[in-house]
Amino acid sequence: MADKDVITIGDRSFAPGEKGTVELPIGSLIDYQQVTMTVDVRRGKKPGPVLLITAGIHGDEISGVEIVRRVMKSRNLRSLRGTLIAVPVVCMPAFLSRSRYLPDRRDLNRLFPGSPDGSLGGRLAATFASEIVSAATHAIDFHAGATGRPNLPQIRITPGDTGSLDLAKAFQPPVIMETNLRDGSLRTHFTNREIPSLLFEGGEAHRLDSSSIRYGLRGVFSVMRHLEMLPPVKRKTPPKTRTVIATSTTWVRSPRGGIFTTAVELGQAVSAGSKLGLVCDPFGRHETPIKTDFDGVVIGINRIATADEGDALFHIASAKNPERAEAQIQRSEEILEEHTDPLH
Ligand SMILES: [Zn+2]
Repeated sequence: MADKDVITIGDRSFAPGEKGTVELPIGSLIDYQQVTMTVDVRRGKKPGPVLLITAGIHGDEISGVEIVRRVMKSRNLRSLRGTLIAVPVVCMPAFLSRSRYLPDRRDLNRLFPGSPDGSLGGRLAATFASEIVSAATHAIDFHAGATGRPNLPQIRITPGDTGSLDLAKAFQPPVIMETNLRDGSLRTHFTNREIPSLLFEGGEAHRLDSSSIRYGLRGVFSVMRHLEMLPPVKRKTPPKTRTVIATSTTWVRSPRGGIFTTAVELGQAVSAGSKLGLVCDPFGRHETPIKTDFDGVVIGINRIATADEGDALFHIASAKNPERAEAQIQRSEEILEEHTDPLH
């Protein structure tokens, strides 16, 4: 969809060159407090794509909220072409209760496209879909791992979605993963509407992860340059990183219950048969090594030191040449360190 002359969200219309904030009414909470969704709209004078950036679909995933906040504060937006729409906290009821879920314990990311007559989450999803997604031509949605389960910064896209793969490469994450769609997710909604979209994962719930924030910030601006929403960088451009593209991932689970010690870190190469850690019974009855059957790199780790049998401990992305993938991730981190400022 091309950039229309006027973009209307809620009761406000934005002509080219205009900017502002809209409070979309969602409903009221138990104390009759009204909940709104705050939407920040920036329009360049010249026409171009309409990029939507969102975070806080899960209310406890804060790194993405911080990435969106820093993007909207950036001076880069002075030379904006097209439109940037930002929703830093999509699910305000969950954010207020510092929870992943809605007050009725539903996951907003399973409720799209929502229903105007449904539950609070269904109404929220419906408002978001009709008012905001309908205006977008491209989208980036920020997430984080669960509490105590940090993710290596990574982009998830749908297998075979070439438009999204193109955007994902422009984002320059250390890892791109092709993962299947889930019913009711925002990513499924974007795919059904043929909107190229990226799902970013990095860090863990409740915490700010500096590396994820820097990848996220750099990623948004490099996608915007790729879409010609921002002019190319004039100064010497930093070297491009080589992204590891994984077509499958797997969780390695605890073979027994006990105290869990890890022997590997995020981004590290593992090969079939290698030891990832140890799970030990507190009374000294067993010390069981945790092994993988796959070649790949570690993209998620469980940091909780106690594990029941079957608990997911290591998330491994497949890689034909794990050592080379590890080296690429390492190089990617080094370039990020050299060319981005930790506070901007
Ligand atoms: Zn999430």
